[in-house]
Amino acid sequence: MNNTPSLSSPLPPGANIGILGGGQLGRMLALAAARLGFKSHVYSDESESCAFYVANERTRANYGDERALERFARACDVVTFEFENVPDATAHFLAEHVAVAPNARSLAIAQDRFLEKSFIAELGIATAGFRHVENEVEASEAFRALGGPAVLKTQRFGYDGKGQQLVKTAQEAVSAFSALKRVPCILERFVDFAFEASVVAARGRDGSFAAYDPPKNEHENHILRRSTVPSPLAPDKIAEATAIAKRIAEKLDYIGVLGVELFVGRDGALIVNEIAPRVHNSGHWTIEACVTSQFEQHIRAVVGWPLGNAARHSDAVMENIIGEEAHRWPGLAKQPAGLHLYGKRDARPGRKMGHITRLSPLSK
Ligand code: AMP
Repeated sequence: MNNTPSLSSPLPPGANIGILGGGQLGRMLALAAARLGFKSHVYSDESESCAFYVANERTRANYGDERALERFARACDVVTFEFENVPDATAHFLAEHVAVAPNARSLAIAQDRFLEKSFIAELGIATAGFRHVENEVEASEAFRALGGPAVLKTQRFGYDGKGQQLVKTAQEAVSAFSALKRVPCILERFVDFAFEASVVAARGRDGSFAAYDPPKNEHENHILRRSTVPSPLAPDKIAEATAIAKRIAEKLDYIGVLGVELFVGRDGALIVNEIAPRVHNSGHWTIEACVTSQFEQHIRAVVGWPLGNAARHSDAVMENIIGEEAHRWPGLAKQPAGLHLYGKRDARPGRKMGHITRLSPLSK
């Protein structure tokens, strides 16, 4: 099964799916792939990768190691990603040897906050006001132009609140720029939102589209704590949020599952915060509450199968198990809930160790 498939031919069970990245998202993708009869090959630069434990094949090598990448590509029928900070050069290189989904352009846009916000704004979709910042003068000018509290974020390699700082004066913007080691940044207007939500959706190789019900997301210390469905979003806002995700997916010519993170303003306005070109933490509840989970949906999309049914049959609350909370597994194991532990050895503070999903009967 080592011939490069064309994007239009569905892969049969038994085919090899390559997953770049070895975290819990890769782990849950590999498990979903196995359920449909596929094999998975996880490529990660970390020897302690929790996705390795459930994969058929594993490669431990750097993302810039072209010999290892080429061997990996030849061993796979399609390659996908479980995190967006894989260098887009890696995606381009792989795409010379094997079908890659989602495409390298989606990855390049999503991993660069300036390209990402510019792309969204050009589609006429609302974002927080933002400015590019490359030096102290620009930091100060950007703050004055945006006029109010703002968040300085590194342009690249940010996740879970890493590489960002709230600033309330132009002077604070300048100090924050120094604190972030003077790397290129964007300064974003602080959004005084009512709550956060997200659309987790999939686009198939045939252009079909399926979205899950958008959850309400609560963060603690910039890390997702809880996702709840149904959210307080009214049906017309759900339709609007879904249409935003569809438009983004179409413009990116996207294949696979993507997450679109939203701020919901106090007036109900939807403001896009960011795009995750992968399965998303706020979609973990779909494993228990939907016929087709986001992980199966992603596998279906990248292998060219029809998308599955994204309808929700239950209400759900998904909570992350973070850091030392993982030691509470004996109590969690007694609960009538979907418990997922990622098999990570070290329960470091802030590390996502697992999640638990509690279901209740469908309310709306
Ligand atoms: P991000 O790394 O961009 O996903 O941001 C992580 C979290 O920080 C978001 O989920 C929000 O809770 C908060 N945040 C980021 N940007 C803003 C903003 N412009 N206004 C208000 N809160 C923000």
